[in-house]
Amino acid sequence: MDIELSPADAAFRDEVRAFLAEKLPKAVHEGSAATPSVFVEPDIGQVWNAVLHEKGWLGYQWPKEYGGTGWTPLQRYLFEKECALAGAPNLTVLGLKLVAPVIWTFGREDQKHYYLPRILSGEDYWCQGFSEPGSGSDLASLQCRAVLDGDRYVVNGSKIWTTHAHHANKMFCLVRTDATGRKQAGISFLLIDMNQPGISVRPILTLGGDHEVNQVFLEDVSVPVSDRVGEEGQGWAIAKFLLENERGGSCHAPKLSYDLDQIEALAKDQPDGRGGALSDDRDWRRRLAKLRIGVQSLEMIELKIISEIAKGRAPGPQTSLTKLLASNLRQDIDLLAVDLFGPAGLQLELARPLYGDNAPDPLLSRAAQLASPRYLNSRAWTIFGGTNEVQANIIARSVLGL
Ligand SMILES: Cc1cc2nc3c(=O)[nH]c(=O)nc-3n(C[C@H](O)[C@H](O)[C@H](O)COP(=O)(O)OP(=O)(O)OC[C@H]3O[C@@H](n4cnc5c(N)ncnc54)[C@H](O)[C@@H]3O)c2cc1C
Repeated sequence: MDIELSPADAAFRDEVRAFLAEKLPKAVHEGSAATPSVFVEPDIGQVWNAVLHEKGWLGYQWPKEYGGTGWTPLQRYLFEKECALAGAPNLTVLGLKLVAPVIWTFGREDQKHYYLPRILSGEDYWCQGFSEPGSGSDLASLQCRAVLDGDRYVVNGSKIWTTHAHHANKMFCLVRTDATGRKQAGISFLLIDMNQPGISVRPILTLGGDHEVNQVFLEDVSVPVSDRVGEEGQGWAIAKFLLENERGGSCHAPKLSYDLDQIEALAKDQPDGRGGALSDDRDWRRRLAKLRIGVQSLEMIELKIISEIAKGRAPGPQTSLTKLLASNLRQDIDLLAVDLFGPAGLQLELARPLYGDNAPDPLLSRAAQLASPRYLNSRAWTIFGGTNEVQANIIARSVLGL
């Protein structure tokens, strides 16, 4: 979809495009294309972060005073769109897009000065300790306990589905500091050092065979009170702020559109079983067209949200709508890729990584090898960041007034 840009915005887009053409490393591009999990591994992600940091563009959503670009919402969108169309990896959101806005909104000055530069420099790699066994959708029921002992909290409990905890040296964590009143009122937000006694990380392999998530156990873990963000008991308000950013902090349509382009191009070389090419098959074209319309509709909504933000309004429950639509489209597009390759689309290679010199040989092609693990991993889209049903509840309550 084309939007009419002002000359200044068109020049900005061209500048980003030229930068990507010159500076996106080949290994990063290939690694990203051959990653079946939701997030890329640090050997790709951190390299790309460093390139963007050197240019001053890593904090592209950050205010200028904290080392960000201070770009307008439309510039941020154009940057994300150009990155997606160039095949750049998704940025590691946990530090950059989730905890950073919490720190500059709710943190003390010393917390801002210490933590924010370390996110940009890559010194700190963050994971998100929200979900627990038994507390996912009903997050406010969380049990991980922090008890004040002098100037430190002693934390005991467990977190689950913790993305990249095995790479992280820091975890932002919701803990229960009061179990007596309303469950939302007894939650606090702590910044926890992962490299200390009492923390252990147990891998959980995804359906696709990737090690992306973990269970984290905390046993008498010591956290200075100075590493609490906000007041004791303010954790629920902070969590809601963070989750709204998580659901609406990115533009999904450009990446979905890029993936559709790849599939469409590959279908030209794929036989339809009747002597022609799959790309000319009527049913195939109908499926493709339906997904294209879905992606274009999503992009219209994303642009509408950007225009609201540009007018200084909060995006609110619309972020639930984009999360829901993007998750469904992601899964449908990944299923289309499996169908594209026929039997070769069903191979499930478990060795990792699928890029670099030691990548295992694929049947048919690398794209075919990626189709099934990518499809299986993308089942998670309708779960993480709040399930589809939870988003539908939010829309029903907040938008439709039901
Ligand atoms: C790949 C992946 C990565 C993740 N990464 C992280 C992470 O880094 N950090 C983190 O803290 N968490 C993470 N999560 C956890 C994620 O946020 C939770 O899985 C999610 O919130 C759902 O919680 P649950 O798994 O406990 O399911 P449940 O809450 O038990 O839900 C089970 C089913 O019941 C439905 N349901 C529940 N409540 C309602 C309701 N009120 N109305 C209608 N239906 C309902 C749900 O939609 C779902 O279908 C990740 C999850 C995945 C899959």
